[in-house]
Amino acid sequence: MSITLGIDIGGTNVKGVLLHSSGQRLARRRWKTDSFGAGKVIPVNLAEAIVEFLSKQKLSPGNLLGVGIASAGLIAEGVVKTSPNLPHWENVKLAQGLSKHLGKRVLLENDVNALAFGEWKLGAGRGATNMVCLALGTGVGGGLILDGRLYKGSQGLGAELGHMSIDLAGRPCLCGNLGCLEAYAGASAIRNSAEQAIERGAEGALALAKFLGKNPPEPEFLHAAAKNGSRLTIRLFEEAGRALGVAVSNLVNGLNPDVFVLAGGVARAGRFILEPALAEARSRIMNPKEQKLKIRLRSLGDDGACLGAALLAREPRA
Ligand SMILES: [Zn+2]
Repeated sequence: MSITLGIDIGGTNVKGVLLHSSGQRLARRRWKTDSFGAGKVIPVNLAEAIVEFLSKQKLSPGNLLGVGIASAGLIAEGVVKTSPNLPHWENVKLAQGLSKHLGKRVLLENDVNALAFGEWKLGAGRGATNMVCLALGTGVGGGLILDGRLYKGSQGLGAELGHMSIDLAGRPCLCGNLGCLEAYAGASAIRNSAEQAIERGAEGALALAKFLGKNPPEPEFLHAAAKNGSRLTIRLFEEAGRALGVAVSNLVNGLNPDVFVLAGGVARAGRFILEPALAEARSRIMNPKEQKLKIRLRSLGDDGACLGAALLAREPRA
C-alpha cells in the first residue's frame, strides 16, 4: 500500500489529493466546506465524501496507507478546537471520528505546518535541513522544519510566525497583540492600507481607484495596478515588503535556515513585495557573508497543504 490521501480544509473549499509514494498525484477532488454541515456530523459527512471519492478511483479506504488532514485554526490532539475561518467546526474530533468511519489511521495537522512539510519534501524546500515557511494569506501563517523535522513546539502551538511583533507599539492585530507581522503583510492588512489611502486621498489614490473600478483592493488587483505603474500601490507593497523583511531577518538571525519559502496569495505580488523585503532583510541579517540562505517562492501551487497532509500520513510518528 503506497497511496495516502491528503485533505486540506479551508474556509471556502475542502480539497483532496491522492498521492502515490513516488510523489505522483493520482487524483484530486474539491468540495464546498459548507456541504459538510456543522459539529458532530462533520466527520461522518467527510468520511462519506472520502469513500465516494475513492470509489471513483476504484479504491476503498482499505487501499490507503493513511489519511492526513490539514486544517486552518487551532489544532490539538486530533481536534479542530477553533478556527476563525471555520465557524461551524468548533471542537470537532476530526481525527478520531474519521478514523472510526474509515478504519484507517488519520492524522490532523495545522494547515501551514502541513504546507511547510509539503514544500520541504516535494517543493521549494527540498534538501533543506532547516527551513522556514511564511504563508502570506488573509493572515500570515508560519511553519518550521528544524534539524530535518517538522517543529511544532511543546504543546503543538509553535510556529505562529505571523504573530511575531515587529513594532513595539505598532498596528493592533486580531490576536490582541500590537505590531504583528500579519497586521502589515497579510492580505487583509494590505487591503486595509489601500482602502485607507484611497479614503484619505493619498497621492496616487485617484488613479488607483480608477484602475480598480469595481474590483476590491485585493492583492491580485493591486498587483495588476502596480504592474500598470500605480505609485501608490508600489508604495503599499513596499511597506508590506519592508515589514516582511524585518520578520525574515529576525527568523534568519534566530534560526539560520538554509531555505526560506514564501507562500500564499500575497507572495504573488512578486518583485513588488520581494525586492523591498530582501533589501530590508539584507540590511538586518547578521554575518551575511556566512549565511547561505535561499529565499524562494512556493513551488507546489495551491496543493501544498494537501500534499503535505498526504505526506504526513506516511510518517511513522508525525
Ligand atoms: Zn497577532
